[in-house]
Amino acid sequence: ESALVWFRRDLRVDDNAALYRALTQARRVYGVFVLDRDILDALPRADRRVEFILGALRVLDEDLRRLGGALIVRHGWAAQEIPQLAAALGVQAVFTNHDDEPQALLRDAQVAELLQAGGTALHTFKDHVIFERREVLTATGGAYGVFTPYKNAWLKKVNEFYLRSYPVERHAHALAPTPLATGVPALADIGFQPAGLIAHVGEGSRGAEALLDDFLDRITDYGDRRDFPAVKGPSYLSVHLRFGTVSIRRLARTAHQRMQGGDRGAEVWLSELIWRDFYHQVMHHHPHAMRAAFRPEYDAIAWDAGPEADSLFQAWCEGRTGYPIVDAAMRQLRQTGYMHNRLRMVTASFLTKDLGLDWRRGEAWFAQQLLDFDLAANNGGWQWASSSGCDAQPYFRIFNPTSQSERFDAEGRFIRRYCPELAGLDNKAIHAPWERAPLAMQDVDYPRPVVDHAAARERTLARYSVVKSRK
Ligand code: FAD
Repeated sequence: ESALVWFRRDLRVDDNAALYRALTQARRVYGVFVLDRDILDALPRADRRVEFILGALRVLDEDLRRLGGALIVRHGWAAQEIPQLAAALGVQAVFTNHDDEPQALLRDAQVAELLQAGGTALHTFKDHVIFERREVLTATGGAYGVFTPYKNAWLKKVNEFYLRSYPVERHAHALAPTPLATGVPALADIGFQPAGLIAHVGEGSRGAEALLDDFLDRITDYGDRRDFPAVKGPSYLSVHLRFGTVSIRRLARTAHQRMQGGDRGAEVWLSELIWRDFYHQVMHHHPHAMRAAFRPEYDAIAWDAGPEADSLFQAWCEGRTGYPIVDAAMRQLRQTGYMHNRLRMVTASFLTKDLGLDWRRGEAWFAQQLLDFDLAANNGGWQWASSSGCDAQPYFRIFNPTSQSERFDAEGRFIRRYCPELAGLDNKAIHAPWERAPLAMQDVDYPRPVVDHAAARERTLARYSVVKSRK
């Protein structure tokens, strides 16, 4: 018996469900990653995520070789490459981990059918989340639509069984080398140019390891520090969770154990990992929400459109709205591919409720820019901010960008990092320079606010009133 493990969003050896199952069920196990042209051809030619993936594949290949195997890397269409490779290797089965994004499910159904026609089985496993699909349901068997009861049910259900790691290395002797494993291609070989990957995310699972070590030293302070973008509060592990260069079981187990030992920071952090599961199950139960408002009555909202709206959108993307905290955040996104969670909320609220623009425009921009872009979490975050989502904030709750700035970047440290032209302003003026330091701003190349927050707030309340009347 031989098997092929198809890696996708699980680019690691350690605690990998599909790899473990293959190793325990087959005598010869090969591994493959497809640089899928269905995804890659649509990307700009410089994309940090492609660089991240190649780095992660190099580490994965090294780890497999250390254990006696090797990684086959193909550049093409998964629906062609996987069945072809399965036939060339003569495997009886392909093992892979679930990817529940709507497009991925279609791809997998197609691959399963083609494999079956050739007499090869496709076996799939949960790996990416702790609980998936229909594993956490309400007492009446429905899907949870509110986070807190979902979280309580999640915590009640979780135990050692769900958090345990798969002991891959113990069975690694089944890994088999193959002349088809010719190494990981360079960026140029697949038609991409360097985009400047930010060094601190590190390379693949090795990078995740370093970030995790660093974070565990300060996890206890997570609850107190996570909301301040100038402070090293969060874990920065999101890209690794997205591409599976770290195991969610390992992270959840670590947080859960520390929580049980009374660590409040670990408890808050675990809650964030549960949000991740929550949005994944929303995607499973409500795939329509990946394209339209989760609450259909919100599709009646008339967003601003036309040339003026387009130029506001452009100003938002480029970090030129005249609101320093928004601009600093949008520049952080463009320069690094990361944005702090508090600022994702602030900038998303600003796009929908200050600029009056459709949340899907912002969602698409984040999808293009974020290194950690994940359909379920990004869509969940955007629908939360636009109030159209599952357990979203009420529409009449509108962030005031200036008070958010004063509260979460009181000394303007984050603003100064990304808007150096404002560095000379004092800690009070920096949050609203047009109002508090108009004279000093005369010589500074920084825009005046593109909208007035108080007036925008009124327009937004009126815009959202269609929702009330439809309920
Ligand atoms: P930490 O604070 O260390 O959290 C640990 C992990 O928990 C994160 O890596 C992430 O996997 C998970 N997590 C934390 N918060 C959330 C959340 N609200 N929803 C789901 N999972 C969460 N997260 C993404 O991974 N990809 C996205 O595309 C994404 N888009 C977002 C868009 C908007 C508008 C908003 C408001 C939030 C979005 N988030 C997204 C959630 C959150 O902002 C990021 O996960 C977080 O900032 C990543 O940084 P970190 O790894 O340092 O987080």
